[in-house]
Amino acid sequence: MMTEQTPAVVYRFGNGVYINLTNRCPNLCVFCIKTKWHMNFHGNNLNLVGLEPSAGEVVCALEQELKKAPFKEVVFCGYGEPTMRLDVLLFVAQTLKGWRAQAKYPPFKIRLNTNGLGNRINHKDIVPLLAQVVDEVNVSLNAPDEISWQRLVRPVEEFKDGYEDVLEFIRSCVAAGFQKVVASCVDQTGVDPRAVEAVAKHQGATFYLRSFLDAQD
Ligand code: SF4
Repeated sequence: MMTEQTPAVVYRFGNGVYINLTNRCPNLCVFCIKTKWHMNFHGNNLNLVGLEPSAGEVVCALEQELKKAPFKEVVFCGYGEPTMRLDVLLFVAQTLKGWRAQAKYPPFKIRLNTNGLGNRINHKDIVPLLAQVVDEVNVSLNAPDEISWQRLVRPVEEFKDGYEDVLEFIRSCVAAGFQKVVASCVDQTGVDPRAVEAVAKHQGATFYLRSFLDAQD
């Protein structure tokens, strides 16, 4: 059974190497693999069973993985919301940036995939910290309004009014000058992707429509 595999701290998808920092998240999206595929993403068991890797373990796992094959980006993803572990995220991203500066590997980008609630989760503005070590931010927006957002991402009570925080986070990232800020929408969820696109662009972000089947934070 795939779910009996050792949990993947890092895994490959497309041209990217993805980092699985945590399974914790204040949301429970209808499209999350927490609710489907038994936490198995394209053959990788992402169920950390509560054993979140330390920063050192992530760095070791990356050193093992990055030398195996070419890659174009390293992505903090999860399943899980990576900003739940902000200190580890920042340490690992800084390490990656150092490796890039030393040309230890061919050029690559450092990307964060997030639900956009990181400021709320950490009770502070994390965007300036991220901007020092991350190149691109992909915010999972998914909805053109708060009611649709609540229906799709199903936040815990404390985050029920988080939609405006997500929009503010996107605007803040755009203002911070990341190389790219994407606000994405998963298709086939019942919302009109064009309405989400309009909201994304209004915040200054690039819009991206993702396949439901490949939905990844
Ligand atoms: S934000 Fe991401 S990790 Fe959290 S429930 Fe949604 S898809 Fe899953």
